[in-house]
Amino acid sequence: MHFLRNLIILFLICIAIKINLCVPTIPSSLKTLPIDGHFDFKQVHHAAKDFGNRYSFLPSAVLHPKSASDIATTVKHIWEMGPGSHLTVAARGHGHSLQGQAQAHRGVVINMESLQGPKMKVHTGNFPYVDVSGSELWINILHETLKHGLAPKSWTDYLHLTVGGTLSNAGISGQAFRHGPQISNVRQLEVVTGKGEVVNCSEKQNSDLFYSVLGGLGQFGIITRARISLEPAPKMVKWIRVLYTDFATFAKDQEMLISGESTFDYIEGFVIINRTGLLNNWRSSFNSNDSAQTSHFKSDGRTLFCLELAKYFNPEEMAIVNQEIMTSLSQLNHIPSTLFQSQVPYIEFLDRVHISEIKLRSKGLWEVPHPWLNLLIPRSNIHIFAQQVFGNILTNTSNGPILIYPVNKSKWDNRTSVVLPEEDVFYLVAFLSSAAPSSTGSDGLEHILNQNKRILELCEIDGLGVKQYLPHYSTNGEWRSHFGPQWEAFVHRKSTYDPLAILAPGQRIFQKAAPLSL
Ligand code: FAD
Repeated sequence: MHFLRNLIILFLICIAIKINLCVPTIPSSLKTLPIDGHFDFKQVHHAAKDFGNRYSFLPSAVLHPKSASDIATTVKHIWEMGPGSHLTVAARGHGHSLQGQAQAHRGVVINMESLQGPKMKVHTGNFPYVDVSGSELWINILHETLKHGLAPKSWTDYLHLTVGGTLSNAGISGQAFRHGPQISNVRQLEVVTGKGEVVNCSEKQNSDLFYSVLGGLGQFGIITRARISLEPAPKMVKWIRVLYTDFATFAKDQEMLISGESTFDYIEGFVIINRTGLLNNWRSSFNSNDSAQTSHFKSDGRTLFCLELAKYFNPEEMAIVNQEIMTSLSQLNHIPSTLFQSQVPYIEFLDRVHISEIKLRSKGLWEVPHPWLNLLIPRSNIHIFAQQVFGNILTNTSNGPILIYPVNKSKWDNRTSVVLPEEDVFYLVAFLSSAAPSSTGSDGLEHILNQNKRILELCEIDGLGVKQYLPHYSTNGEWRSHFGPQWEAFVHRKSTYDPLAILAPGQRIFQKAAPLSL
């Protein structure tokens, strides 16, 4: 009896030791690292939150770096601790991830926003560019470059995101059909790899690292600096919306527009399901010049498709631009009475979502759960997808904007890590839902997650060749199938630049120190 009891105690001790070995304890050595910034071991809760508001993993420490060298020193130290330490490192840009991607359970989160690299520097000339910190917000880049009459070419819809955060994914908006995503508009990067080395890379120098990091989900290095291409910035924007009842006509017009050379500078679209607030939604501040016409238009409960266009111009070009717009619009087949136009300063157009953010924050509706689903859908299957999703799954209501617009794959560089559908034209479809806190109804989290699941199942069962954008998976098998034929190259890159899998643990692709399997 005694023997049995001792055996059980011994067994429990062994389990306890094993658990203890697996739990990373923050080594006191971190406290003695020679850095200019500092570690915080107490105020770490902020680093366990993100925009998605659904996942929360507490780190053991937050590094507030002052320089790239602080980041390199920390990562190198953890790399040198070897596989036994289980410590991981997540760069946190502006924390606008959806499922904990910028978090590190019991690891170290790097608060990139405290980085104080060299000041942002704009270079004018024939091929202008700006050198920025990886932690810079796009809105600040816009303000700074505009002082020189310049601006980046490719954007996201929302500018309060960091350079490192969007370049780790792609950075897609209505300019992508012409200029490609943000990752197609970067000339050079400075990166801290998973071994703590600071490496400069570009198309010509350390090119494999350069392309690995672009769209690399933070797996290969932490972006500390970036060189971004610029173009002359316009002063004003003509902002236009037209409506369709028929998806096929809407998509045909979108595809025609993205294939043309001199049409618009920005092309997006969105779906309106059973809504009376027809032309507006939280992601924009569009005010039609003709508000009487807007208020008279009734959707009668129909699902509508809104094509959203923008044309950049300077005041002295007004007459010619108006003429060009009229010519382009005359080729469209929208509902004739639904042409809504507005004219706004360029900066107001680009920063349009922020205006809505301020409104939502004031009503306490910004920091709610965001069960977003972003998909890239090959053009040949977009009609089946739309028919099933807008005809069957989302018939009565939606819980936020649903964006839908095509882009040209030829504008994407196939050497980057981003995963795309096979075809030359594919659609971004973004279900940007907000869940009403603690609701069990159709605006509640469970309901929306269930709808997302049905949409993903549809893509799977019908074999639509869809890829997730801002991907999120739980199992190794799902990641493999997401990467498909690119998986082998992705694993190879990981084993080259971050062999212990220290970086970006919140993506849950690799496990720290576990052998990388093909
Ligand atoms: P974080 O959430 O802080 O980090 C995201 C990932 O990148 C994490 O894995 C993190 O570890 C890694 N990371 C962060 N910084 C670095 C770095 N310096 N080096 C390497 N890895 C790093 N995306 C679009 O493409 N188009 C849009 O129009 C668009 N609109 C959006 C609107 C809103 C309101 C929100 C909340 C998001 C939107 N996004 C859009 C998605 C957005 O681009 C991504 O969520 C992006 O990662 C957020 O940037 P962040 O700075 O908050 O990154």
